[in-house]
Amino acid sequence: MKPERSAPYLPKRDAGLHSAKDESDPYRNTKRPPNGTACPKCHATYQVNRWTWQPAEKDAYELVCPACHRIADQFPAGYLTIRGEFFKEHRDEIVNLIQCNEKKEKASRPLQRIMAISDTRDGSTEVTTTDSHLARGIAEALHSAYKGELKLRYSRDENLLRASWKR
Ligand SMILES: [Zn+2]
Repeated sequence: MKPERSAPYLPKRDAGLHSAKDESDPYRNTKRPPNGTACPKCHATYQVNRWTWQPAEKDAYELVCPACHRIADQFPAGYLTIRGEFFKEHRDEIVNLIQCNEKKEKASRPLQRIMAISDTRDGSTEVTTTDSHLARGIAEALHSAYKGELKLRYSRDENLLRASWKR
């Protein structure tokens, strides 16, 4: 956990489309962990340049994975805002589709996780994710299943996605 915590880091939850600068992004640019590194929180392990669900070896080097790190910091990489009467009327079905999508992704890619599905003060519902790819995958799944209106906006370095879907 130390290498991440020692990185300069300013929480910027409301920083719009500007995510942290490359040099100060503790989620992307920490050094590659050694092979076999295990996350003490979710038990994912780092194997040949990627995080997997392979079981950890005994006495494996431990490091919190980027997904658990983002969850602990409450610092999403993907936001999906959902609006509209259709969603309100079919909420359970749509939330189920969102969760199935996460389950499928997460099974092979441990860093793809939903952080929260919450109602906001302006009446929309917001899905936050640990990786922008998952937010995009969910947004596109909703659009292809139910049509409606889809918008995707990436930050310049593509580390942050704000998607919105309305129907
Ligand atoms: Zn983890």
